Amino acid sequence: MKKIISALFLLLCLGSVVSYTAVESQAKSTVLEQTTEESLTNEAASRSGYRWRCDSCGYTSEWHAFANTAVKRANEHMSKNPGHIAYTYRV
Ligand SMILES: [Zn+2]
Repeated sequence: MKKIISALFLLLCLGSVVSYTAVESQAKSTVLEQTTEESLTNEAASRSGYRWRCDSCGYTSEWHAFANTAVKRANEHMSKNPGHIAYTYRV
């Protein structure tokens, strides 16, 4: 019984991390869109997708076609590197 409770707790924790990342990306996307629009490369202009970035180590991810893939990778980065805050944004 105890195992089931801790598994549920873990799921709840993961869920809140995912929603936190989503909220964070929405908050930052407006600012980022303004800066990226000015420095759009041909590649970025032709491919609309998602990237995630970690402010703690300055890492910017590769391009992802789907938001959930980018969020998943960002979450993996945060669990591998405790204390790092990564957010997903649209490109
Ligand atoms: Zn990091």
